[in-house]
Amino acid sequence: MSILFPLMGNTMVILGITMLAIASFKVGDLLQRLPNQQLHRSWQFLRLLILLFILGYTGFSLMNWNSYVDWTHMLVPVVFFGGAIFVLLVCSLSLKTTRVVQQVYSLQKQAITDPLMGIFNRRYLDRRLGEEVLLCRDSHRPLTLMMLDIDHFKRVNDTYGHPVGDLVLKALGQTLIRHTRNSDVVARYGGEEIAVLLPGTSGAEARVLADRLHQEIGKLRVPLPEQGSQPRPPLRFSVSIGVAGCNAGNADAGHLLQAADLALYQAKETGRDRVACCPDLRLAVASAN
Ligand code: GH3
Ligand code: MG
Ligand code: MG
Repeated sequence: MSILFPLMGNTMVILGITMLAIASFKVGDLLQRLPNQQLHRSWQFLRLLILLFILGYTGFSLMNWNSYVDWTHMLVPVVFFGGAIFVLLVCSLSLKTTRVVQQVYSLQKQAITDPLMGIFNRRYLDRRLGEEVLLCRDSHRPLTLMMLDIDHFKRVNDTYGHPVGDLVLKALGQTLIRHTRNSDVVARYGGEEIAVLLPGTSGAEARVLADRLHQEIGKLRVPLPEQGSQPRPPLRFSVSIGVAGCNAGNADAGHLLQAADLALYQAKETGRDRVACCPDLRLAVASAN
């Protein structure tokens, strides 16, 4: 009995220290997964508390080494041990929950992203277009849509091959993301046709943005991989853009798409490498100039 109590007391406090150390590592792992600064600070504070508890447990263990002689002396080691188990469980569970939430988020993101261009896909565009049309009708929030298509893209593929065509699509996706707001929806509509949905943006603002995008894309130079050991000059390309808008009285997803498509057709018909807008950007009417 005289050996058993010191052995149990020492072991419990040491196990407590070990569990707190493991909990601290788990919090470290969790910290790396958190994007939010406020949450970061809260978990860093908790980690500091855990480190202070480790110091406390260690000091207590050194001062009371082998001094546990009966059940009453065991009370503090047992409480320390239980506390450490609790902290380790909470930290492990938080880390597991974070991992699961991250996996779900990543799957959801995959389901709505175009892997080549790194922008949204058609499925997400359709969903958001439906939602934004309802908001436009109910809240009188302006809504505009841009349709953008690479000019003579088939020639790029035919001349340089599909991998270079893919590089062009990637560069276009990145440029569009860089020059639009987070609240805008940049989505691959199909092939080399991209839709940019602009919630809360008036026709006049959309026209300005379309001109800016058209200019920025014109300035793009896509570096080409060397052919043999011969360097090749970077590739430039142009786009045609159609812009359409709607208002609370006439908002309709089908009409808006049709009007933007028609404006794009006009841009192509009148020589490509330009922006064409519906005559009245508050009306999703199927005629463009
Ligand atoms: P236009 O100026 O009238 O738009 O001419 P275009 O050549 O761009 O139009 P067209 O519709 O004839 O050609 C579109 C091309 O886009 C054909 C297709 O091979 C290519 N394309 C579609 N998706 C991809 C893709 O993911 N990668 C590559 N490299 N090419 C693609
Ligand atoms: Mg094209
Ligand atoms: Mg096309």
